[in-house]
Amino acid sequence: MDNINVLFWNLKDEFTVTMANRTLANFFGREQQFYNMKNMDCNHLTSGEIELIFADNQAVFREKKKVSLEKWISDSTGKLKLLSITKTPKLNKNGEVASVFCTAIDITEKASLKKALDITIDNLSASEKFFNLNFQEASNGILLSDKNGRMILFNEALCEILQYPMEELIKINLFDITHQEDLPKSKYLRNMLVNNRIKKFKMEQRLLTGNGNYIWVNMSSRLANGGHAELIISYIEDIGERKSAEETIKEQQAEIESKRVELEFNKLKNKFFANLSHEFRTPLNLIFATLHLMESNLDRNKEHVPYEKMKSYINIIRQNSYRLLRLVHNLIDLTKMDINDYHLNLKKCDIVSLVKQIIEPVKSYMEENNREFIYNNQLEKREIICDPVNIERIILNLLSNAIKFTRVGDQIILSLREEKEEIIISVRDTGIGIKKDKLDLIFEEFRQVDESFSRGSEGTGLGLPITKYLVELHGGTITVKSKYGEGSEFIVRLPIKRDDSVFTEESPAGKIEDLTNKVDMEFSDIYCG
Ligand code: ADP
Repeated sequence: MDNINVLFWNLKDEFTVTMANRTLANFFGREQQFYNMKNMDCNHLTSGEIELIFADNQAVFREKKKVSLEKWISDSTGKLKLLSITKTPKLNKNGEVASVFCTAIDITEKASLKKALDITIDNLSASEKFFNLNFQEASNGILLSDKNGRMILFNEALCEILQYPMEELIKINLFDITHQEDLPKSKYLRNMLVNNRIKKFKMEQRLLTGNGNYIWVNMSSRLANGGHAELIISYIEDIGERKSAEETIKEQQAEIESKRVELEFNKLKNKFFANLSHEFRTPLNLIFATLHLMESNLDRNKEHVPYEKMKSYINIIRQNSYRLLRLVHNLIDLTKMDINDYHLNLKKCDIVSLVKQIIEPVKSYMEENNREFIYNNQLEKREIICDPVNIERIILNLLSNAIKFTRVGDQIILSLREEKEEIIISVRDTGIGIKKDKLDLIFEEFRQVDESFSRGSEGTGLGLPITKYLVELHGGTITVKSKYGEGSEFIVRLPIKRDDSVFTEESPAGKIEDLTNKVDMEFSDIYCG
């Protein structure tokens, strides 16, 4: 019961002090043992001591009633202090006074404090419990506070933790030194406590010290026993070291994670550049090889070059030039998209005729590659606001993937329908499918899910990220469903924008120039040499 901001002593009889705390000894500048002397000689005591410790005792012992009074008492330096004194008799079974429990609190500086103290002292069962805590050994802070955060009693350990002298700390409200981020939770839990909704709670929170720094503490709180005053006892443990160790570990983990991400990204980047070189080299090799063949054919048959042969050479060169062109386009666009410098050219157009136009030249690719292509349109004319060139790119990309990742005889189904103010374009196939754990990756740049397979058909893993970006620029979404070994479905949802006043320019029948060239370009991966 030492080191609290309350002067405390216990009387066995009118003249015998059985226990006194250090605050009392300090107040009168005594050694702590001083008051434990059996038969105290009044000659050795100051008038202040007599006035505080022994005056009024007779009445308490005789009338067996608690007394509360205020007195000006001079301390060891001769300064007068206004003390709020309470002496409470404790009766034994026979109704005799066994001891008297006395407290005094310095209220010189803060009269308003008196009320709080009165509440505390009145509520003796609470304060007595509080005094009975082993204060001396407590290395943790112990605090008795009311529901409004008023700090009523506390021990010296709390002063040390919070780096305030006792006389300063008593003036402070707990809520004023609680960190803003912790305050709502702390208030909520304290309310739950005083409303008896919970019995106790533990909370890690930050408190502002006298030095102006926040420290982490673990506060275990419960209601002080009984009483109307709704007092809360809290044990406050300084967990700064543990927290900073945790912080360090967290920082280290974050550093490791960022290094791991960086490494992973570098690996991905290297793989991408390796792929990219391959992507550039293969068509270039094919173009050079074909040129070489053309040249030797020309040399051999100077006058009469076989038409069919030449035509097939030209086709190879064209297709591989398209592959290079597509690659360059994709790289340039992705760079623009990365810096948000890619813009749509929005127009009002009929999505039904646009899709019809897009798939017309695709059909021959499907046939040549022995895929069964089904177009399932459930819409009549339906005008939406979109960028036809980029809608074409979205659909061609999904269809070219569908060819790449299916086998001879597989089905590719393109469906067009409307659902809740959205146009749904779905490209479903009965191809190789995508493993579950890879589904989230395919929309990320540079990801090719199945390297072994995609080696057979070419690709850099840029198609889907670009497609996703374009769909999102239209305010839409793209999702994928897939079962490995059974097939995949890519679903594009485009909002049907009603407010089309801004877009006066119409695109009748969605005229797209050079459509065949674009299809050739988007499908150039498929005929790889
Ligand atoms: P690319 O086709 O150039 O490799 P994409 O970004 O278009 O790049 O596709 C990324 C990956 O997603 C592909 O490598 C493939 O593994 C997977 N993928 C895309 N479409 C399909 C599909 N229809 N069926 C199975 N896998 C697919």
